[in-house]
Amino acid sequence: MKVATARTSETALYAMADVSTLPDRLREIRRTIREEYLQSHDKPWILGFSGGKDSTLLLQVVIESILTISPDQRTRSVYVLSNDTLVESPVYQSQVVKTLALISEGVSALGLPIEVVQTHPEEDWTFWVNLLGRGYPAPNRNFRWCTDRMKIRPTTRFIREKASASGEVILLLGVRKAESIARAKRLEGYEAKATEGRLSPHNDVKGCLIFRPIIELTNDDVWHILLNVRAPWGGNHRELVTLYRNAQGGECPFVMSEADSPSCGSTSARFGCWTCTVVDKDGSLTGLIDAGFEYLEPLSAFRERIKAVSESPEHRSKVRRNGQPGLGPLTLEARRMLLDELVAMQAQTGLDLITDHEVRLIKDWWGRDETTAVLRDMDRLNQLAAPRSEIP
Ligand code: SF4
Repeated sequence: MKVATARTSETALYAMADVSTLPDRLREIRRTIREEYLQSHDKPWILGFSGGKDSTLLLQVVIESILTISPDQRTRSVYVLSNDTLVESPVYQSQVVKTLALISEGVSALGLPIEVVQTHPEEDWTFWVNLLGRGYPAPNRNFRWCTDRMKIRPTTRFIREKASASGEVILLLGVRKAESIARAKRLEGYEAKATEGRLSPHNDVKGCLIFRPIIELTNDDVWHILLNVRAPWGGNHRELVTLYRNAQGGECPFVMSEADSPSCGSTSARFGCWTCTVVDKDGSLTGLIDAGFEYLEPLSAFRERIKAVSESPEHRSKVRRNGQPGLGPLTLEARRMLLDELVAMQAQTGLDLITDHEVRLIKDWWGRDETTAVLRDMDRLNQLAAPRSEIP
């Protein structure tokens, strides 16, 4: 539905949404948010913000709810947490950056205790340092090393810091049962495990409780609200809707655990990392290119290139990182070749694709791997030169 609705004319979209009960359901959502906010504890709220439609709507209703509370009772800290993998689709990322700046200015003008926070992967665990430094092959369904390192770890680090400072935190997620049958089943499982009213404990992060205020909204509800209601931080959501239309729907949600991550990179069309090779065909980049963003063409071609090089045995070491025979990391030649191509593409497109610091870290890994290879060769030579009786 997402795609069909986003691509349908807005007038038709209003007709498709069953809106008769929406005002009542929204009132109930705001009431529960308000009730949770006014609980007599000072656990901070952390709202997972991906910039997609669901987390945008969640932030909208959270701000609207807090605005109904008298200023002297607005004491709970709220963090709007957004993660940048550093390889996000440039079109999508510039929209998120713009929205985060608007939110930051908007909430400060409204005098709300809300802070926007952006996390990133650690410098030695970025996409490029792993692919071109360590020589990890481009991620695929069997070896999806990226989600944990680029999404789960950075946000979890922030949540753990806040949980250890405050005892516990409450993570607000814009997940909804209507996203898919599998998602609905998982969410019903979490609801059954809820220990503190509406809150359920996070499976992996101690001291983190999860609150899912818009869990029952349908896709039509979400589009209807976003198309009809102004953002409390200023402006409207039309650009976001257009972006969905151009990117052919789909999205990479805010990911907080492996259990929640199957949709990351696994749907056929999405926002998210432009480098994503977990999807067979990147419908998001091609959708944007078809919509007129031709400058993304070299990125789409490079995505195919890293996939092809990673799948080609001639560009893979015959020794694994642990020294055992088998298909190992990308060869140093392949890593050098891809880095040169990436740097050339950065110069050609004028887009920020890789930083100088990442290039330095990548070269550090090459140095380490060259040393390991020399030591392995010396070891092998020593074994060959050793008297037969010394060979085990
Ligand atoms: S979008 Fe693709 S590359 Fe990015 S973290 Fe998800 S699976 Fe990995």
